[in-house]
Amino acid sequence: MISALEQYDPQIYELIKQESARQSGSIRLIASENYVSKAVMLATGSCLTNKYAEGYPGKRYYEGQKNTDLIETLAQDRVKKVFGAEHANVQPYSGSIANMAAYLALAKPGDTIMGLSLPHGGHLTHGWKVSLTGKIFNSVQYEVDPATGMFDYNKIEELAKKHKPRIIISGATAYPRQIDFEKFGEIAKSVGAFLVSDIAHIAGLVAAGLHQSPVPYADVVSTTTHKTLRGPRGGMLMSKAEHAKNVDKAVFPGLQGGPHMHTITGIAVALAEADTPEFVNYAGQIIKNSKAMAEKLLEHGFDLVSGGTDNHLILIDLRNKNIPGKKLAKALNAANIVTNCNSIPNDPAPPFNPSGLRIGTAAVTTRGMKEEQACQIADYINEVAENVENEAVIEKVGQQVLLFCSSFPVPEHFIVPNNVKK
Ligand SMILES: *Cc1c(COP(=O)(O)O)cnc(C)c1O
Repeated sequence: MISALEQYDPQIYELIKQESARQSGSIRLIASENYVSKAVMLATGSCLTNKYAEGYPGKRYYEGQKNTDLIETLAQDRVKKVFGAEHANVQPYSGSIANMAAYLALAKPGDTIMGLSLPHGGHLTHGWKVSLTGKIFNSVQYEVDPATGMFDYNKIEELAKKHKPRIIISGATAYPRQIDFEKFGEIAKSVGAFLVSDIAHIAGLVAAGLHQSPVPYADVVSTTTHKTLRGPRGGMLMSKAEHAKNVDKAVFPGLQGGPHMHTITGIAVALAEADTPEFVNYAGQIIKNSKAMAEKLLEHGFDLVSGGTDNHLILIDLRNKNIPGKKLAKALNAANIVTNCNSIPNDPAPPFNPSGLRIGTAAVTTRGMKEEQACQIADYINEVAENVENEAVIEKVGQQVLLFCSSFPVPEHFIVPNNVKK
């Protein structure tokens, strides 16, 4: 397949090759990224990309669904088994669409929804004003406690009592601590709201039993499939049986046309992988690595939002170091360490150049790195931060990182055949 690509589109072939080299030659700390297995990559790149399958297994609009029905049913069954869910929908194209579908299944435009504000760690689709979710719904936003950087459940309850939302959203994109979904469930019940829990970031930890699961407490659980869960890019929904029909109708025909069957095939494979003891070890190591990295960063004088981490991610407040987030992210990238700048709660700086840096340990854990390497990475980050204006030092760290990465191979996807002439 790869040699066909080289033959027919050498430009794209070359770019994929370069991206493959970039991914293996850098330390990937973007908290939402990972490396899928070769099996997941193969399934995602299979002939299932050629098939239209509008509808659901057994109820399709087009013929030729013998295999697609079996694949999608397998994917649904594996989601239900891994997460203990009553109903699963594996068709959402992404986490954003999954959220949209969750809201449309439970509410109407104009209803009130209540989610975590973006600068406090929530996702755009939790009702932030530039997202459609913040325009078609009446959006109320809660925040983290300014003193602790964590949820103050009493405050959230007060806000819910005041606004009586139709939906409360629990979940985050930059929250380094455990989320008490049971508590969110109680708050939702007490005001007659539905609870939607978005576990996009932590799905792998939930699947492994290392983070409290929202499945028993939430009406609908939404997630991406490509973050800690380590599947192909996509989204999915789980729900109580009573919401199954509305959830399915919201996804198709409410928001989408034909599902991406190649992605669903990859999701099925990823869910089989998530149902193994190896996956539980991986998820446990993610948290160990994250805690070790956080400790080392604290030793280097970095200020961490909430003081540390319970999960796969760390949010650094860079104000005491006097380095803007974008500047550090760019310097780190030049040293082959890939991160993203991020808003911190009550950030005085604008979102495009915020005061924080977000890092996550899922991808490096997939490469086999352990606590020792996590500490080494924290040292690299510190060296770059202390020499953010010094190109020679950044260049030197970049060379060290390249060597460091070579001991931790990424899953082998892109095989350059040596018998094909250039
Ligand atoms: C990443 C993320 C999403 C969106 O996922 P996309 O696949 O990028 O659309 C939604 N919710 C949360 C909490 C996320 O972190």
